[in-house]
Amino acid sequence: MGEERLPQPQRGIRGGDDPGPRDVLRDRENPDLLTPPPTDAGTVPNLRFSFSDAHNRIERGGWTREVTQRELPIATELSGVDMRLEPGAYRELHWHKQSEWAYVLRGSCRISAVDQEGRTFLDDVRAGDLWFFPQGVPHHIQALDEGVEFLLVFDDGAFSENGTFLISDFFAHTPRDVLAKNFGWAPEQLANLPERERYIFAGQVPPPLERDRVISPTGDVPSTFSHRMLAQQPHRFPGGSVRIADVSNFPAATTICAALVEVDPGGLRELHWHPTDDEWQYYISGRGRMGVFAGTGAARTFDFRAGDVGYVPFAYGHYIENRGSEPLVFLEMFRKPRFADISLAQWMANTPHQVVADTLNLPRELIEALPRDKRPVVR
Ligand code: MN
Ligand code: MN
Repeated sequence: MGEERLPQPQRGIRGGDDPGPRDVLRDRENPDLLTPPPTDAGTVPNLRFSFSDAHNRIERGGWTREVTQRELPIATELSGVDMRLEPGAYRELHWHKQSEWAYVLRGSCRISAVDQEGRTFLDDVRAGDLWFFPQGVPHHIQALDEGVEFLLVFDDGAFSENGTFLISDFFAHTPRDVLAKNFGWAPEQLANLPERERYIFAGQVPPPLERDRVISPTGDVPSTFSHRMLAQQPHRFPGGSVRIADVSNFPAATTICAALVEVDPGGLRELHWHPTDDEWQYYISGRGRMGVFAGTGAARTFDFRAGDVGYVPFAYGHYIENRGSEPLVFLEMFRKPRFADISLAQWMANTPHQVVADTLNLPRELIEALPRDKRPVVR
């Protein structure tokens, strides 16, 4: 049996071995924390948190865990929830102060919402689909026959999935005579109300969509709350592909936009930054390494794998490299209606070439040969 060499915090003649105590598993998962590239320097806050390190709320019918500002303090603008529902299980009718953006990771579910005009939304969504519920708009989720796992993203780092407004909780905390008067019911008809919130609970797989549909006198919501992101034709580049969902193709999603990025083995999500906002990332598959430049001589490198959340503060330069052998797939999300990024290469290619050559001591021919269009993923 060949013994795998222990990773050590050594770089050339610098550093030393680590005789322990140590967590070798985590050291192997985070080679760029244990032995950062020599370009890393200064103080950059933590920009990575794994859902595997988050508390998991286990209920009858499913489970859920969240990565918010409490887990990842830098993430003040956006937060996320990973939720699994067994076939037929419900995420109870509820609402919240934040807008909710979602990406279906596996399986399928039925979702509904009713807006302030009483207009309805009802759809079945499956892996690769999105939904968006505006703040305060009540909704529900129910898994279909294969069950479902989805990622929720909220436009507030301080959100908590445990702090939403649930219909059963509202009922449980309203006097029965008031409930009866409100609905024109007899108090005896309320005998079996739940005594506390149900949140996630088991149920039966619902009938075909059309049999569940309720016709409202005010009709359907004017723009649909769901979107088939994976069905979009991707923009292909030499090192991978990108799909963008924002108000240009998903008009309902007014406060959160996203890019679904696939980076081939050996490929690189190019050096860039965002001129609008912080970036919240979710890693779906593969392994990636992100380097972040924080200005004033500070830089830090992080390693990512499936189920990790990454965060890039506003305007920080960054790249994401696939150094593994399988495709790297991740989501970039922003608390903005439109996706925007600035490409370092495109900026340089479209700036007077002598200026760039003089600044970086590079041969002018190199700058002249740069492609002037944007190539978000290169190899
Ligand atoms: Mn919700
Ligand atoms: Mn980015």
